[in-house]
Amino acid sequence: GFQLTSKDYTEYIKLAYAKIHENGEYVTALDSATGDGDHWSNINMGFESLVEAIPDLETLNLFDCFKKIGMIMMSVIGGSGGVLYGSAYMEAAKTLKGKEVIENQDMCNVLEAMLNGVMNRGNAKPGFKTMIDTLHPAVECYKDCIAKGLSEKETVALVKKAALDGAQSTADMEAVRGRACYQANKGVGHLDPGAVTMSYQVEILMDYIAS
Ligand code: ADP
Ligand code: MG
Ligand code: MG
Repeated sequence: GFQLTSKDYTEYIKLAYAKIHENGEYVTALDSATGDGDHWSNINMGFESLVEAIPDLETLNLFDCFKKIGMIMMSVIGGSGGVLYGSAYMEAAKTLKGKEVIENQDMCNVLEAMLNGVMNRGNAKPGFKTMIDTLHPAVECYKDCIAKGLSEKETVALVKKAALDGAQSTADMEAVRGRACYQANKGVGHLDPGAVTMSYQVEILMDYIAS
């Protein structure tokens, strides 16, 4: 099985940043259709700052590393995303207290804590057309895979698919949170930008675990 250290997690951060960075036009267009067009620039800036902080992050234990990531996200990402990502990483950090590596079950716990952090802080649930609609199915799938005793290889493929399908599912949803809920048709027919960038993160994380 895999075992990720803080240094490994910062490798994932680099890869996630690259994926986000190269999808600038696409994500900006998504947030321009239903919001204020800044989502890519917000999240890109957040990941850019994380990459700059890697020399520091990679020396920290997992708890401090995740806490620091949360603090950076909270201070750098503008818009609603900052506090939500901040809460996600703060909650994830708590699950890693005293741990030196992240294994399969720990990774599932981390994603579940992130989901709960976002849901509590954003006062939102699955079906509200947000990044939660990516994370929630991914976490449910991950828990299910572990319960069924699937291999890590099967697990990462299924979790990745659940996240990508979850992001796609936002196209049919009426927004209950986020700027798209101010649109006359509640954003129906458009993907939620935050759900899409969250699917990039889960995708890259699962690819990294499998590599
Ligand atoms: P803003 O809407 O303030 O400009 P961003 O454009 O950076 O911030 O982020 C928008 C994304 O944040 C949305 O696409 C959605 O996925 C997510 N989001 C917004 N509000 C919430 C909430 N209450 N709970 C969870 N996610 C949310
Ligand atoms: Mg926006
Ligand atoms: Mg904004």
